[in-house]
Amino acid sequence: MINYGLHYLDKEDIKSVIKVLKSKNLTQGKKVFEFENSLCNYFGAKYTCSLSSATSGLYLISQILEWKKRDIIFLSPLSFVAGANSIVRSGAFPNFIDIDNKTFNIDPNKLEYAIKKNKLDKIKAVIATDYSGVPCDWKALRFLANKYNFILINDNCHAMGSKYYNDTRYAIKYADLVVHSYHAVKNITTGEGGSVLTNNKKIFERLIKLRSHGIEREKKHLHKKWIYDLNEIGYNFRLTDIQASLGISQLEKLNNFVTKRRKIAKIYDNIFEKISHCNIPFDNKNFKSAYHLYPLQINFSALKKTKEKLMKFLLDRKINLQVHYIPTYRFKYYKKNLTLKLVAFQLQKIFTKMKYLFQFFSI
Ligand SMILES: *Cc1c(COP(=O)(O)O)cnc(C)c1O
Repeated sequence: MINYGLHYLDKEDIKSVIKVLKSKNLTQGKKVFEFENSLCNYFGAKYTCSLSSATSGLYLISQILEWKKRDIIFLSPLSFVAGANSIVRSGAFPNFIDIDNKTFNIDPNKLEYAIKKNKLDKIKAVIATDYSGVPCDWKALRFLANKYNFILINDNCHAMGSKYYNDTRYAIKYADLVVHSYHAVKNITTGEGGSVLTNNKKIFERLIKLRSHGIEREKKHLHKKWIYDLNEIGYNFRLTDIQASLGISQLEKLNNFVTKRRKIAKIYDNIFEKISHCNIPFDNKNFKSAYHLYPLQINFSALKKTKEKLMKFLLDRKINLQVHYIPTYRFKYYKKNLTLKLVAFQLQKIFTKMKYLFQFFSI
């Protein structure tokens, strides 16, 4: 069976995990710190906080940035739901911006249009996903982040190993916070796992604290291990040494993984380019995809075939395709709440008008 994603483990990976299994420490320890250092080196960030998943990272970010009801946070609906969910959990509600129809990433022009049209003065953040591995238009997004003063987050879960203007360290150069996932379908894996990369020391220190219940230890008490304090409530979002040891040896192979993924993608390109009603994924020398996914766009009605038929045809031949993604606003929860939000917005508009009329007549 060919699945849309499959991890690759070699003898070295297995050996490094066994070494930890035979050691005295299985939970967060030396290997976790070593992994974080390797990630800093590879991706060029000052700080990396490893976590139990990318979702943990997004949730911690929403807590640290103190998002709340009515805060404006933008993202594209063509991503995994974890980003939108983290916004909802904070009490705010996601504001969806349409994608660029070539790259499938959030469209900076449409983002600025939404900001101007709604005369928004305070925007909290933008979460931009490098969908399928294609880097977003980060120069434009950074320009907007400076112009409108918002925090820029790169949901980089698909794009570890991608290159933007020939640079694998692009993510943290443009975004304030970068989120990784090391789930088994991603470009490198620790089974489950993730991290947040940043150059901001204050945010990093809070991430470290919150991934471990919010526990803090003062420097002057470092030799008294039994003394700690709690000033803010966190979670257990830690990675283990078992996972980190796998991460270290996987990261060493990331360049090779990406080379192989790109080779396979070019084979697909050559085939699908010649088939009508198919659009091959975007890729060029300044936006070099790591091809976490190969999102082939198919015009089913022009082909006179249904999606179900094609999926079944391929599944019968042991090729298991997936749809990436059902747009977030089509999920029940989001549909229901978006409708409520729109109704509330319209009512508010009517009330404001009535207030003016009332004032007018009372004069
Ligand atoms: C996989 C993924 C996540 C979530 O990662 P986990 O580590 O499973 O929490 C978030 N965003 C995107 C774009 C992803 O692909």
